[in-house]
Amino acid sequence: MEKVSPKQPGTLYITATPIGNLEDITLRALRILKEVDVIAAEDTRHTRKLLTHFEISTPLISYYREKEQARSVQLVERILAGESIALVSDAGTPGISDPGAVLVRLAHKEGITVVPLPGPSALATALSVSGITDSSFLFLGFAPSKKSQRKTLLTSLTDHPHPIVFYESPRRIQGLLSDILQIMGDRTGFWARELTKAHEDLQAGKISDLLELASGPKNRGEFVLIVHPGKIIRAEGENVEELLVWYRENTTLSVKDVSRKIASDLGLSRSAVYQNALVIYKKK
Ligand code: SAM
Repeated sequence: MEKVSPKQPGTLYITATPIGNLEDITLRALRILKEVDVIAAEDTRHTRKLLTHFEISTPLISYYREKEQARSVQLVERILAGESIALVSDAGTPGISDPGAVLVRLAHKEGITVVPLPGPSALATALSVSGITDSSFLFLGFAPSKKSQRKTLLTSLTDHPHPIVFYESPRRIQGLLSDILQIMGDRTGFWARELTKAHEDLQAGKISDLLELASGPKNRGEFVLIVHPGKIIRAEGENVEELLVWYRENTTLSVKDVSRKIASDLGLSRSAVYQNALVIYKKK
């Protein structure tokens, strides 16, 4: 009897797609999207439009955040059975503030060949036009949507020595800018809005200027926000009480934000510092 040799596993292609301008798709991405057996997409309707534009008829399967775990297992099974799969997100590079990592990790575990197809990403695109001379930056993706968590994060970053890069939506850009202004001060910032699209908009200025712009008609589209490091001010004080007094006299931070800052710097509970602050500030 003729021996049936087991099928070779296929390949997983992590494929970047345009962040606005369809001409930014790479020739390699187009070829692979045509050649693979199936394309796993964050939103199949969205990706269908891209494929239709380029006359690609490869079948689509959904792969989105809520289903990442279960879908990864299915996709890996298909790759092990010999199919090749391209993973795309709605825009830019999968895995960067987008689904992808779970599938990639499982593929590595199963010894599947994972091939990156580089291309657009809002992060690299924004940095390329930001004029940042610092060779390091901190990319945080989306800041937490809950205000208290966002403020805690920003408080922990006030002394960070490099530019900080955020992704943000038009719905939340004002909230983020106003928290930055309140907690980190009126630093220099930069935004790249609607990159590669018809209304592409690059703005450099103080955080207060950007906040004002975000309150007007420019509050539309997708944003990458870069916040430059501030002047590092060393609070003076030997203990929590002295620090509380120092912040009261040298900054405009609210009692809650001062408590957050001291708690974050000293690794203490915020509520304990806050209770202390209420007593100290009442006395003063
Ligand atoms: N994976 C994508 C990448 O590689 O850029 C990012 C996906 S994330 C869900 C979407 C966020 O990326 C948006 O909210 C925005 O902050 C940023 N973004 C995407 N496209 C953009 C564009 N054309 N201009 C500015 N920012 C953009």
